[in-house]
Amino acid sequence: MVPVSTRNRRRKRTLGTAVSVLACAALIGGCSQAVSGTPTTIGGYSTTDVAGLPATNGPSGPKDGAPDSPLPVEGTDNGAMDKLARNAVADVEAYWTEAFPKAFPGKQFDPVKRLVSYDSAGPGIQLCGSNTAGVVNAFYCPPEDFIAWDRGTLLPQLNNSFGPMAVVTVLAHEMGHAVQHRAGTVGANDQVIVLEQQADCFTGAYFRHVAEGSSEYFQVSTGQGLNQVMGVLNFIRDSPGASDYGGNNAHGSAFDRVTAFQYGFSEGPQRCATMDLKDVEQRTTLFKSWKAQQDTDLPIDRKSLDAVEQSLRAVFRDTGAEPPKIVTEPKPCGRQQPTSPASYCADTNTVSLNLAELQKIANPPSKDASSTGYGDFAAYAQVASRYALSVQKAAGLPLDDEAAGLRTACMVGSWSGLLVEDPIGQRNPVGNLRIVPEDIDEGVSALLGEDSLIAANVNGDQVPVGFARVEAFRVGVQEGFAPCTNKYGG
Ligand SMILES: [Zn+2]
Repeated sequence: MVPVSTRNRRRKRTLGTAVSVLACAALIGGCSQAVSGTPTTIGGYSTTDVAGLPATNGPSGPKDGAPDSPLPVEGTDNGAMDKLARNAVADVEAYWTEAFPKAFPGKQFDPVKRLVSYDSAGPGIQLCGSNTAGVVNAFYCPPEDFIAWDRGTLLPQLNNSFGPMAVVTVLAHEMGHAVQHRAGTVGANDQVIVLEQQADCFTGAYFRHVAEGSSEYFQVSTGQGLNQVMGVLNFIRDSPGASDYGGNNAHGSAFDRVTAFQYGFSEGPQRCATMDLKDVEQRTTLFKSWKAQQDTDLPIDRKSLDAVEQSLRAVFRDTGAEPPKIVTEPKPCGRQQPTSPASYCADTNTVSLNLAELQKIANPPSKDASSTGYGDFAAYAQVASRYALSVQKAAGLPLDDEAAGLRTACMVGSWSGLLVEDPIGQRNPVGNLRIVPEDIDEGVSALLGEDSLIAANVNGDQVPVGFARVEAFRVGVQEGFAPCTNKYGG
């Protein structure tokens, strides 16, 4: 996060109309989007709903008693990883055999010509024009129409970190590339990011089939199970700032990847087929650091907090809500239990913060789990989440139901979206604070975790389903305030 000087700031506010819709819907009354009396199902949206499927926390992984696919795999050691990968490919192909002719009428899905297993730590073999020695990867080879994977390092690493469905995720993604070549949804000159976004989207479409219970080999719960799948996409993201969506090896930021996955899961393969560079450019957060100051992380201190407070006031000004007081010591709030690291007291319209706990969240993440942090944005997003409750209070919305958690995530997303300044001028940021693209990914990481207030109500109860948490945040980033109350209970 980066403060900018007033002199340089741009004042265009194209999302101002979106802000006004909130004021209309919630504060003035008499608009068409009245507050519903049913807090959990509003406008057809339910807080226990994952894109139309019920929220579940059952088992995820290979189904008990599922058969082992007889698909031939070249180079296999017949070990557990190859067995898992082979069953994954068989299952994803079975899905596309059904789904492909429906999504792309008049076309048939043919299985890929070969499957190849190799060990990146073993002697290299020539595959798709290069040597596999040291190549910790899985890939689809378009000219020869085959899928290959590293059973030695990549697959065990994914399996150990995220469980067996992580392996299925990666192979569904590679099959997504085979699908796009068969469907003709990419041209010879399409940018890599478009191909990758489509493949993640096709992965989402396959996972819906699994979540619906229609897979022969696998099952996935829509709660924790999909959380882990999105965690894989988050883990193998490109690092914004280091790469750019136009690059030759761009896979997308975590935000981009999770967005594409959710599009496929919610809307099916047809949505994936509409992805082109224009579609991606409008929503990508994968930008190179085009300003040196972008690398700045805000410390957790009073000065930065003032900048965040000013930014929140600027973004939420048009709602007409009285800004809350932000204090850095605990304040009693009647019988309401405080939440950490930030707490909102509706009676006094005060946000009180525990700076030491905020600092823990602001610490950069570490590979060895010694840090429980996500980065500066994730910390200040907790503050924004409690501020967003004051906006909801002013609008007369309940603060203690599950929809409040979704509205909060959406409002934090809309605040974030209004702080993004991109190098191609698609966005018009508000106020004196800017976030860098990595910041949005910090938000996604925190939302996939179990310990964040970004999608939590006034009591600190987080929306139980990670898919819904990320979706609400994403909707706010992409669409501004209006859906925060329209879709989630305004
Ligand atoms: Zn790919």
